[in-house]
Amino acid sequence: AKALGKSRYVVFEAAMRDRVQALLRVETDLRAAIANQEFQLYYQPIISLKTHEIVSLEALIRWQHPQRGLISPQEFIPVAEETGLILAIGQWVLEESCQQLWQWHQTLTEIPPLSISVNLSRKQFSQASLGKQIQSILSETGVSARHLKLEITETMIMENEVMVSELISQLRALGLQLQIDDFGTGYSSLSFLHNFPLDTLKIDRSFIEGLVTDTEKSEIVRTMITLAHNLGMTAIAEGVETQAQLQWLQQHHCDCVQGYLLSKPLSAAQMQKALMQSHRV
Ligand code: C2E
Ligand code: CA
Ligand code: CA
Ligand code: CA
Repeated sequence: AKALGKSRYVVFEAAMRDRVQALLRVETDLRAAIANQEFQLYYQPIISLKTHEIVSLEALIRWQHPQRGLISPQEFIPVAEETGLILAIGQWVLEESCQQLWQWHQTLTEIPPLSISVNLSRKQFSQASLGKQIQSILSETGVSARHLKLEITETMIMENEVMVSELISQLRALGLQLQIDDFGTGYSSLSFLHNFPLDTLKIDRSFIEGLVTDTEKSEIVRTMITLAHNLGMTAIAEGVETQAQLQWLQQHHCDCVQGYLLSKPLSAAQMQKALMQSHRV
């Protein structure tokens, strides 16, 4: 039994070593990726259920690895966060999305000016200089603050309430909107909602999944929509995949929807094409 225990330990150790090596490889590759411009932004529309117009485009990062192909952010964002590389990546995401937005504002003159939603990482949101950084990106790209929305999570707020309070005031003073991403998954108390002025609740996909058949889920979503409205906030449903979900959300006065049913995330070129087609009569 002792021998078996030991060999198990060896196997475990080998697995750990592989895991560590894999993580280190991702880190090395991530450093190169920044220099080699291997990142790309995809865009997914957020659509109003009242006007049926695009309210905003969420910028979602993709990594086109020279050997491994397209890598999902779920795989590399955590490594980037741990190594601090997320700060450089986050800066790039803000710059790139604002540059792209400015370009769309210039070329898509027949449609109302679009807004963009950018995901912030934990590390970015704990930097006191974030407000200044965003302000200079806005002035360099010529994008107005009212067209930039920032997505943060409940946990990011709860982790550092004092610092965050200062940062939120700064960002709001600039005229930016703040959206709570993945709402309902943070295991936080709801107290942050009245302590901080925020604009939007994005109801997490896990609640939208099975919404129509699961009475508990529909009760939760109904309550989240009411909560948002009672606090003067907008409700966005994430991960809408079926017509039945869409209808339910419309009947229950959810403000906006986002999901594969309406559009998958698209590259800038694909999105531009779609935007131009949708407005050709
Ligand atoms: P998120 O912010 O919750 O983004 C929504 C994710 O759900 C995206 O995955 C999107 O492609 C996916 N999605 C949208 N509609 C549907 C649907 O109808 N069904 C399903 N099954 N999925 C849907 P993606 O692009 O892989 O991004 C995953 C996560 O990575 C994001 O979750 C976000 O937390 C993070 N992320 C993405 N881009 C960035 C970024 O630029 N910076 C930071 N810090 N994080 C990012
Ligand atoms: Ca998001
Ligand atoms: Ca989300
Ligand atoms: Ca998420």
